[in-house]
Amino acid sequence: MQVPGYSARVPGRGAATGSQTSLREANAARILRTVAQFGGITQVELAGATGLSPATVSTIVKQLLAAGSVETRTTTRSGRRASLVTLARRTGLAVGLQVGLRSLRVVVADVGYDVLAETVLPLPHEHRADTTLDRAALLAGELLEEMGASLEEVVGVGLALPAPVDPRTDRIAARGVLRGWEDVEVADVLQRRLDKPVAVDNDANLGALGELRFGAARGLRDVVYVRASYGVGAGIVLGGVLHRGHGGTAGEIGHTLVDPTGPICQCGSRGCLNTVVGADALIGTLRVSHGPLALRDLIRFADDGDPGCRQVLADAGATIGAVVSGVAMTANPEMVVLGGELAATGDLLAVGVRDALARRVMLASEDPVPVVVGELGVRAEVLGAVAHALDQQGVMAP
Ligand SMILES: [Zn+2]
Repeated sequence: MQVPGYSARVPGRGAATGSQTSLREANAARILRTVAQFGGITQVELAGATGLSPATVSTIVKQLLAAGSVETRTTTRSGRRASLVTLARRTGLAVGLQVGLRSLRVVVADVGYDVLAETVLPLPHEHRADTTLDRAALLAGELLEEMGASLEEVVGVGLALPAPVDPRTDRIAARGVLRGWEDVEVADVLQRRLDKPVAVDNDANLGALGELRFGAARGLRDVVYVRASYGVGAGIVLGGVLHRGHGGTAGEIGHTLVDPTGPICQCGSRGCLNTVVGADALIGTLRVSHGPLALRDLIRFADDGDPGCRQVLADAGATIGAVVSGVAMTANPEMVVLGGELAATGDLLAVGVRDALARRVMLASEDPVPVVVGELGVRAEVLGAVAHALDQQGVMAP
């Protein structure tokens, strides 16, 4: 199986070493990233977007063409003939969509799970199902058009939602956690917009599937994936299969009790984990010292070494870790994988979770459970959505 990304497409990898080779590989990877970002782009535009000289772009595109990593065809730009570069694709495409609380991520991949195009759009606070699904459909269409492909080529669409999804009905399985989306037949609505089969699931579940197929948990059978973002959720893989539970709420660790006297959560219960480590709670603890922050500011400041922001994330890691150790006792995984925006802060969150697991004697003694940061970063969910879509259409992974 191929790991999605660009490095596998770069010719010359593993061959001769040396600074010339690594420079060429870095430039080739840069060109591939840029082509994926634009879907399709002319060589002149590539030179402009990468800052590389037209001659270098031309040489690298020739090498990538020979290696089967890109395709070129003639197009017109401002009335002149130009060579349009797109990523090479196997027959059949899949669209992966991730609806977050504040953003929408869309990728187009081929059936070999190579990401060919990708885009992210910010979403307004408390966005609603109808407008967001409209945007998702439009954006998917635009991405396909930019890469010179059409919806006809799409085998299936996968959609990740920031709420538990009942696998029996494809509806959101809990009230209060994603307002404006309840009672919407999400898969049906998107299916009608795109005229393609849509497979929907919870984001943490699909993140788990992504890391299991392509990331840190490749080849493992029992895995707990923890997604720490605006809220916390987990995807639990047992015996190589994603465990969704009877009504689709398995792994909703953001709604387990951590503070019996705490505030009421969106779900209606008191003192859920999300009321302590959800974005609002984390930002709230910094309001006096730092003023109003967005979650991305908190993450950026922590990365830059701000002690207050680092402490907030370390404490969050400890609180999340206490809950995850309970899940680890219950599921006995081979690995705990951390994902979501908060996991992107180096090892800050991971240290807290690791320490919490190390304090549970049974987890720490014989065969300690490794706690690792996922390999796919913020792409885990959307790649899991692609895998879910292709699974439902019976497309076997290469
Ligand atoms: Zn709750």
